[in-house]
Amino acid sequence: MTPGEFILIPLGASVLLVGLIGWWVWKRERTRPSDQCPRCGYDLRGNRRDGCPECGWNTRRPIRRL
Ligand SMILES: [Zn+2]
Repeated sequence: MTPGEFILIPLGASVLLVGLIGWWVWKRERTRPSDQCPRCGYDLRGNRRDGCPECGWNTRRPIRRL
């Protein structure tokens, strides 16, 4: 291992780690507002796909496809 590698490897590892944590925090911050109904702000955690039970946003009626 050369002195250059001795510095670069831990530095690269820490940069990667910081980047990963930053990405995780950024993703977490970004996904948080999407858990709320864009129309009324109702907490849709877990069932956003089903739409909002409060105001009816994005509620899809089951469509039977032939
Ligand atoms: Zn709503």
